[in-house]
Amino acid sequence: MFTGLSIYDFQEQFGDDESCIDALVKLKWPDGFKCRYCSYGNYCKTKRYGERRCCSCKKPESATAHTLFHKLKFPIHKAFMMIYLISTTKKGISALELHRKMGVHKRTALLFKRKVMASMSSLLLFKMDGEVEVDETHVGGKGKVKRGRAKGDKKLVVIGIQRSGKGISRAYARQIDNAGVKELKPFFQDHIAREAQIKTDGWRSYRSLRKKGWNITQEKSDGGKNFDALHRFIMNFKAWLRGIFGSVRDLQPYLDEYVFKFNRHKLKGGIFNILLKRMANYPPRTRKEIFSVT
Ligand SMILES: [Zn+2]
Repeated sequence: MFTGLSIYDFQEQFGDDESCIDALVKLKWPDGFKCRYCSYGNYCKTKRYGERRCCSCKKPESATAHTLFHKLKFPIHKAFMMIYLISTTKKGISALELHRKMGVHKRTALLFKRKVMASMSSLLLFKMDGEVEVDETHVGGKGKVKRGRAKGDKKLVVIGIQRSGKGISRAYARQIDNAGVKELKPFFQDHIAREAQIKTDGWRSYRSLRKKGWNITQEKSDGGKNFDALHRFIMNFKAWLRGIFGSVRDLQPYLDEYVFKFNRHKLKGGIFNILLKRMANYPPRTRKEIFSVT
């Protein structure tokens, strides 16, 4: 696992394909080899570095098979460096920048960036608890849209934060079609603990959720002043999105990236390890699957 912080430490540890494959092998088979076809536990090596062949059914499995590194079209050490850049660049890095920095094709850079983003989606392991604030906001597009609706390029996003003093200890965001109860309820169920004390504005869907047993206090928004931390979060997210990505057609992966990094900003170098572990255990995705939303 990567323990350093600087780009030099990184190069030293993952500067060639062999060291990257060694790391992948450890993440793929942490408890030793087990054939995925016949469950046999013994293997022999093949000519391909890191590949293991089952001694019983003779089926080979490469280090990248069944991971998000499957069918990579460029050297794996470049993929590792891209993950390093994605996880350590404070303001994030666009696919275009990765294409320039790493010398891979634009489309290749975008596809790989999106694979990394796919591994950033929430695993729904941690819920917001304590003091929680929820609101929706419009992202992108021009003109005004009615409260609670998405229209054309104007996307609607529900955002929740868990307060910690004046700051925020955890946040989640999800693109929704409208701010009706049907769309908001799954977000509450996935990301907010039942015991949390939730604050929202007077929007009617929150009233319905309160009636369904959520501990919600509704307060009329005073131009956002009484929801300062939440609104700061929303403003920062929008600035980040504008700064790096321009117009975004499918927003959710970008919400996932922002929230993933926000919730782990104290981990610094550790973000790389988390991402690598997730990518090694995430089923492969084809170009079609990655871009199916657009
Ligand atoms: Zn086997």
